[in-house]
Amino acid sequence: MKIIEKFLDYNPYSRPKKLKPSIKTITIHWTGREGQSAINIWNWFNYHIQKYGKFSSSNDCIDVDGNIFKFIPENEISWHSISGKTNLDYVKKYKNEPNYVSHSIECIPKNEKTGEFTEETKGALIYRCAMLCVKYDLNPLKDIYRHYDHVGKVCPKYYVHNEDKWEELKKSIFLAYYGMIYLGLTFDGEDKNES
Ligand SMILES: [Zn+2]
Repeated sequence: MKIIEKFLDYNPYSRPKKLKPSIKTITIHWTGREGQSAINIWNWFNYHIQKYGKFSSSNDCIDVDGNIFKFIPENEISWHSISGKTNLDYVKKYKNEPNYVSHSIECIPKNEKTGEFTEETKGALIYRCAMLCVKYDLNPLKDIYRHYDHVGKVCPKYYVHNEDKWEELKKSIFLAYYGMIYLGLTFDGEDKNES
């Protein structure tokens, strides 16, 4: 597992160059199709969506081999949950947009029918979420959401269809987080050179 910085070019459709006022939560997504790589997703966000006039992106994208790509720096907005339907109180305080306060992570599935992730993707997701919870003082059991929780979209599919696995995933993140706290790990040195 590696963390690879590959930031999108600034453009209104995927990297709008807007700063988040704060990071209150993490939102998990799936990309919807198997057989893709994070570079495919990067190309989509960086070049292709502009042609369609769509707005879409994520802060991170985790590949099937467990590599974590940082597409947009943590302190910048990504367009990952666009809808006014959310009823979550924390979001209402921020223009009704999870985008302004939530760090987004896209995961590429190994199987598009079930939506399941590889063990490598799952492990990287647990690590990345735990690290962000330490860094931004988030509670892994309360501050991690599915895209579904925000707008009702079936995303990430596997964890919408398997509520027990979703609860299990959050507990795994909590254990990893607890281990990091116990070891005194901090991640403040990350993201120093973002542009
Ligand atoms: Zn989503």
